[in-house]
Amino acid sequence: MKIGCHVSVAGGIQKAFERASILQCEAIQIFTQNQRQWKSIAYDPNTVQEYQIKRKHYHFGETPVIAHASYLINLCAQEREKLEKSRRAFLEELKRCDVLGIDGLVIHPGAHGGKGSDWGIGVIAESINRALASYDAQVKILLETTAGQGTGIGSRFEHLQQIIERSGQQSKLGVCVDTCHIFAAGYDIRSAAGWEKTLKKMEDTFRIETIEAFHLNDSKKELNSFRDRHAPVGEGFIGLESFSLLMRMNQFKETPGILEVPGGDTVFMKNIELLKSMRGKS
Ligand SMILES: [Zn+2]
Ligand SMILES: [Zn+2]
Repeated sequence: MKIGCHVSVAGGIQKAFERASILQCEAIQIFTQNQRQWKSIAYDPNTVQEYQIKRKHYHFGETPVIAHASYLINLCAQEREKLEKSRRAFLEELKRCDVLGIDGLVIHPGAHGGKGSDWGIGVIAESINRALASYDAQVKILLETTAGQGTGIGSRFEHLQQIIERSGQQSKLGVCVDTCHIFAAGYDIRSAAGWEKTLKKMEDTFRIETIEAFHLNDSKKELNSFRDRHAPVGEGFIGLESFSLLMRMNQFKETPGILEVPGGDTVFMKNIELLKSMRGKS
C-alpha cells in the first residue's frame, strides 16, 4: 500500500505538498476547499499554477492525490432545498478536482433521514447521474464505507454495490474502504480469518477491484458500535495485527492508504512510519 495521510490545506491548496513532504507521504488526501462551508470558491489561476509547481518541486508528480468532499453534502437529503444545495456543491467538488488533476473524490454516500436505505440509494444514484449528465468528470467518485451512524448509508457493502449498479456508472465509481468505519459497522477485521471473510464479502458485493483507496484508522469504539470515532493505529479496538495483515496484502500494493487519525502531524508521522515498517515483515 502507498501510505500517507489527510494533509491540511490551511493557507491554500498549494501548501499541501510541503507538508506532505515533511510527513513523507506516498499518498495524499486534501479538502479542495473549506469542508464546512457551502459556498464554492473559484480558484485564482495563480493558485492552481503554484499548486502544480509545488507538486513537482516536492516530487509528488506520480503520487496519488485524492480529495474528500465536504461533510455538508447529502446526496439523498429529504428536504428538496438541502438536496439541491448538495447536488450543486457535489458538482462543484467534481469540477475543482478536475482543475487540480485529482485522482479520486471520496464522498460519504448520504443519510436518508428515516425514509430507508432503499429510497436513499435510489436518490444517491440519481444525484450521481445528474452530476455526470451535466458534467463529464475526469475524477473518479469514491464511495466511502461508513460506520452506520444515524441513518447514514454505506455501512453495508451491499449499499455501495447497489449505488454503483443502480446508477449504471461503473466506470466512474470506485470504493474507499475506511477500516474504522467497517469495523464499527460490524465487519471484524482483527484477525487473518476476519480479513478473509471481509474480503470475500467485498468481492461478493462491490468487488475488490473497485477499491481505489483505503482510510487507515483504528477505532475508539467497539465492533458493532456503529460509531465513527477514529483512533491512531494500534490504539483502538482494531489493533496492530489487523493493519499488519492489510499492509502485507499484495492486491493493494499500489492502493493509496490514507490516515485520518487524531493527534496532528506528530501522530501522522509516527503512524506513517509504523505502517511502512509493517509492509516489509512477513
Ligand atoms: Zn470520510
Ligand atoms: Zn474515512
